[in-house]
Amino acid sequence: MKIFTFDTTLRDGTQGESVSFSMEDKLLIAEKLDEFGIDYIEGGWPGSNPKDKEFFERAKGLQLKHAKLTAFGATRFARNAVEADQNVAELLAAETPVVSVFGKSWDLHVARALGITEEENLQLIGDTVSYLKGHGREVVYDAEHFFDGYNADAAFALRTLEVAKKAGADVLCLCDTNGGTLPPRLAEIVADVRSRFDGVLGIHCHNDSDVAIANTLLAVEAGVTHVQGCINGYGERCGNANLCSILANLELKLGHTTVGQETLKQLTSLSRFVAELANLPLRHDQSFVGASAFAHKGGVHVSAVMKHAATYEHIEPELVGNRQRVLLSDLSGRGNIAFKLQQLGLKEHLDDVARRELLQRIKIMEHEGYDFEAAEGTFELLVREAAHPEFHPFEIVSYEVATRLESGVSGKLPGNDDTVTTANVTMRVGDNVHSHRANGHGPVHALDICLRQCLASVYPAITSVRLTDYKVRVLGAKGGTESKVRVLVEWSDHRRSWATVGVSNNVIDASWRALVDALRLELMRLLDGEPADRMTRDYSWAV
Ligand SMILES: [Zn+2]
Repeated sequence: MKIFTFDTTLRDGTQGESVSFSMEDKLLIAEKLDEFGIDYIEGGWPGSNPKDKEFFERAKGLQLKHAKLTAFGATRFARNAVEADQNVAELLAAETPVVSVFGKSWDLHVARALGITEEENLQLIGDTVSYLKGHGREVVYDAEHFFDGYNADAAFALRTLEVAKKAGADVLCLCDTNGGTLPPRLAEIVADVRSRFDGVLGIHCHNDSDVAIANTLLAVEAGVTHVQGCINGYGERCGNANLCSILANLELKLGHTTVGQETLKQLTSLSRFVAELANLPLRHDQSFVGASAFAHKGGVHVSAVMKHAATYEHIEPELVGNRQRVLLSDLSGRGNIAFKLQQLGLKEHLDDVARRELLQRIKIMEHEGYDFEAAEGTFELLVREAAHPEFHPFEIVSYEVATRLESGVSGKLPGNDDTVTTANVTMRVGDNVHSHRANGHGPVHALDICLRQCLASVYPAITSVRLTDYKVRVLGAKGGTESKVRVLVEWSDHRRSWATVGVSNNVIDASWRALVDALRLELMRLLDGEPADRMTRDYSWAV
């Protein structure tokens, strides 16, 4: 059955504590959701703040191909006639084809929050819905706190729906606003509503009891055909129902149609796009779309999934645009190595003995503090080096770096206070020795400049690699300032990203190792004739 999708990432989603979108972000997300085939995009509450009002102004310029833009607001204030209500006027001024308007279903809210009689509340709902219908809008009526209201006084809660329906609401959306309803009760209530009302019923769940997705799916099973939620489950308190998981479950497990299975293959990309704009890390363990959703670590699991993916995967990752990953760790078996070789197209290059040696080397490095789970780049380098012992892009002869405080020195780099950092690197490339000395904004920068200068004349492509993130972690802080550190550096060359790792008692040496590995990996890839498109697919989000 076709289930209509209603995304409220730009309205309810922005109520999440850490979620904040700029105007540009909101417009970009709206376009992306439209491309993805979402049916309704709720853009904000124009009556509540100037930013949302401006969004609808700007959104008039969007060329949406499929989605209907929706403005959200409350029923009229009790003291205002509907024509004179500012909030309702703003809803119309947004000029969206659809408006969603919420009203009270819970007697507690009517008496305490609004301080009006139940009869008056019914009038607010009826007036507002019929006024908006009279202005040609498709109206989604959000029955706020419907399930709590039903539990408190079912007859009253049902009457609010009746009034909205009579006034012409196109969708009656049942909201579990406080997120406290559990699935069996929710399904019972939806079934009761379904038996009383024909037409489109909707569901809007919050995740306070951690069952928002389950509630939404059960509501669909009970006859709802309009589902509301947010990408990545963003939203107030514990979030809204996660639309990513809802869509995947409806399409792949329950046999319904939402955006269609072909489009669903863009789900992971959509989820990451929205997380990127929200500037929030996408939870690795997020179902369907997270980086760990199809990641295998234990040796037994890895060898099993290589034989048959279904042994430890509930769906094929490609169906939602994700991919299988094999993690390197203390639990690694030979299967993990085999998987990586296959993924890199280097299967033929390593015999059994070489594979065992590589595994041994990895285990020793892990014991020293290396962590390959995040640093797939360093692992890839080890694999490539083992596969091509004949490749030696360069050899470091020596390096040196010094930072000194020189008050009042002229010629120092701007913004660097009074310190000056100078590095010196000497390396052998083939039969030639290259040496370079440079100043930088600190040791990593100075060393980076020297390395690139030495390499650039021989390998011009190296210049496009740039550092995007840098993290230092103390391993076993018991040693105080003597402790070993692990430095993780993330890199990008515009087409893809990867991370390398260095471990040492000296933070500069650890950084140096990660730095050299990143450049060496880039050169190994080039020497290996790695096609650019494959690398883009495999590494674009691997870190
Ligand atoms: Zn909500």
